[in-house]
Amino acid sequence: MPDKTNEIRYVSTRGTAPVLGFEDVMLTGLARDGGLYVPETWPRLASSDIAALSGLSYADVATRIMAPFVGSDIPEDEFHEIAVDAYATFSHSAIAPLAQLAPNQWLLELFHGPTLAFKDVAMQLLARLMDRALTRRGVRATIVGATSGDTGGAAIEAFAGREAIEIFILHPHERVSDVQRRQMTTCDAPNVHNIAIEGTFDDCQALLKAMFNDLERRDRLALAGVNSINWARIMAQTVYYFTSAVALGGPGRSISFCVPTGNFGDIFAGYVASRMGLPVERLVIATNSNDILARTLQTGRYEPKDVVVTSSPSMDIQVSSNFERLIFEAAGRDADRVCTLMNALGQEGAFALADGELGSMRALFAAESVSEADVEDTIRTIAGETGYVCDPHTAIGVAAARRVARQDEPMVTLATAHPAKFPDAVAAATGSTPEVPERLQQRLGAEERFTVIANDYDAVTAFIESRARAVEEPAT
Ligand SMILES: *Cc1c(COP(=O)(O)O)cnc(C)c1O
Repeated sequence: MPDKTNEIRYVSTRGTAPVLGFEDVMLTGLARDGGLYVPETWPRLASSDIAALSGLSYADVATRIMAPFVGSDIPEDEFHEIAVDAYATFSHSAIAPLAQLAPNQWLLELFHGPTLAFKDVAMQLLARLMDRALTRRGVRATIVGATSGDTGGAAIEAFAGREAIEIFILHPHERVSDVQRRQMTTCDAPNVHNIAIEGTFDDCQALLKAMFNDLERRDRLALAGVNSINWARIMAQTVYYFTSAVALGGPGRSISFCVPTGNFGDIFAGYVASRMGLPVERLVIATNSNDILARTLQTGRYEPKDVVVTSSPSMDIQVSSNFERLIFEAAGRDADRVCTLMNALGQEGAFALADGELGSMRALFAAESVSEADVEDTIRTIAGETGYVCDPHTAIGVAAARRVARQDEPMVTLATAHPAKFPDAVAAATGSTPEVPERLQQRLGAEERFTVIANDYDAVTAFIESRARAVEEPAT
């Protein structure tokens, strides 16, 4: 019997959901008490362990960084095989290469996966881990997700053709970009179902939330969530903080990261890396005009406002789900305190952090919000100065990094999407349309498949029920 005494366990930020191991947390997504799962304690790497990552392949580093979070649920050699397979879908041999913009200014390119946005890094791994877990248990699951753009494409690409899973992605009809829609709807795998909701992204999210709160249906269909609150996605994103820091002299040198932020998943992965022992100087939250996180860091008051549509749609978010994980940490892991704040958010539409909580956040995090004019100006300026063309999300990171940069501070900005995904914004800034990589071009010409459904809970669930295969067939 393996010794389970030091086994990793996960607790909910709201304190009452069952304590679970890695695979159960991955398959559950949102905790049953409405909270988010976090490890009971943060695994720590010695400085010598971090130094020893130098020169390893991305999949090797991924295995070492994630092993303590996975525990005995998956043997390490098997996990390594899965990581190798997941990252073989990337078109760059480094998986997440660095590019230099200026002295101490770096870009970490996270867009070399199949859908050209950073979501592939976690999703390619998550799909394989979920499929393995379900197959071993001899069960199926039904994934339902809502997307305003990149998540849906990355999820469909990763889960297409996986035996144990049926996947349904809701997107707002005629409200996603042409490229984003085609990336989802041109997939011809029989387990993929695109639903175009006659409504907004918020309507899609509300439908999704209602399904997950419908516990009888949730259990019967074995609903699984793959949105950015899924712990396994955060875990997979910690890896590139290590690879990039080590490439730039870590752990002997402390590195700052600037992260284009929406749901706070990607930047929370940077926080996790720092808790694991990686020397991180600062984490800079870069937002577009939807600046709730920048306002919160400045004033301590978390107050969602109406979503503004910008040229960086994947960051057009006001309720930043993963921020709850940071609140839990800043509140000394006091789940009652998290419940109090989340109740205030539900009832009064806002909450205020205590001075100590805000202080502990400010010790590591800074925040900047970048206007639409600054985004365009940054894309143009960087292209003019260096020849490097970045997408609007990445440009927000670069603009924020340049504003806050201190002398001699190595700053890595996460480049979260390929410019070809956002051709109009790039063309408006630079005067020329970015070249579309071969693999995207081929895909975009394929036939589209999707079903338009009214913004109606019964209509959507009837569609899903009729196609989900998780329901046990009676034995004959
Ligand atoms: C999802 C996404 C983001 C925001 O990431 P979060 O983890 O939600 O903060 C930024 N840029 C791009 C291109 C994305 O797809």
